[in-house]
Amino acid sequence: STCYLDGRYLPLDQARISPMDRGFLFGDGAYEVIPVYSRRPFRLEEHIARLGNTLAALQLPDPHNAGEWAVIIRELVATNDWEDQSVYLQVTRGADTKRNHAFPAQVTPTVFLMSDALLTPPADQLASGVAAVSAADFRWLRCDLKTVALLANCLLRQHAVAQGCAETILFRDGFLTEGSASNIFIVRDGVVLTPPKSHLMLPGITYDVVLELAARHDVAHEVREILEDEVRGADEIWMTSSTKEVLAVTTLDGRPVGDGRPGPLGRRMHALYQDFKNTVMRS
Ligand code: PMP
Repeated sequence: STCYLDGRYLPLDQARISPMDRGFLFGDGAYEVIPVYSRRPFRLEEHIARLGNTLAALQLPDPHNAGEWAVIIRELVATNDWEDQSVYLQVTRGADTKRNHAFPAQVTPTVFLMSDALLTPPADQLASGVAAVSAADFRWLRCDLKTVALLANCLLRQHAVAQGCAETILFRDGFLTEGSASNIFIVRDGVVLTPPKSHLMLPGITYDVVLELAARHDVAHEVREILEDEVRGADEIWMTSSTKEVLAVTTLDGRPVGDGRPGPLGRRMHALYQDFKNTVMRS
């Protein structure tokens, strides 16, 4: 496939960066994953705004304004084959001449984008839901930033995969935070619940869409702290992300969630999400 590196479009297997890049040495960079439906980026403004927040927290000047990002993404999407794509975008602080923890005085950010076919959950996964395990959330205290330093998230996702599961649901001090690469919603007594945004979780773009849809379609919902026991006793659990969209979790740590099948509110929210996506993309 074609990628973008520092102003040039080129085949992904020909792209090269320096081993002195601080993204490689320190995980010193920000990223986004933007879903593209029918060649149109979904919620682009929000993704670019979140990138801006992460870069600001890293004290890394955003190398492009929103209009420039939109052009780069449009060109990249046009050069690749798929109608639906997932665009990966990252900005690292760039390559220094020496390895120093502190920021170099003179450095040019490395801007890299690649794209792949967007693979949303297949029909059988939507029908059966997926299995999840739980773990203590041992990540740092700035989980609101989307940085490329993802080792904890990798270990936590592998923890699930090693047990034949799709996701690890994280608890910190007895409260739900999120998944290793998703936000988590639960349903109890007909009410959709999800934790409030804080430095302990990523402010998901899909999380926002789901809450907007719940409000617009009068689905009872509440944003509040959720106890671990409330998750374990939930009628439904969903994971949400740009590529998983709204996906039911039907077992947690080997025990069925509710009756062990995707529940009615999750199926409704998945349908609302598909409708919304299609309407936005056609407008
Ligand atoms: N939390 C984490 C830790 C994630 O990695 C992701 C997906 N990148 C999400 C939540 C979901 O965010 P979004 O809906 O913006 O894809």
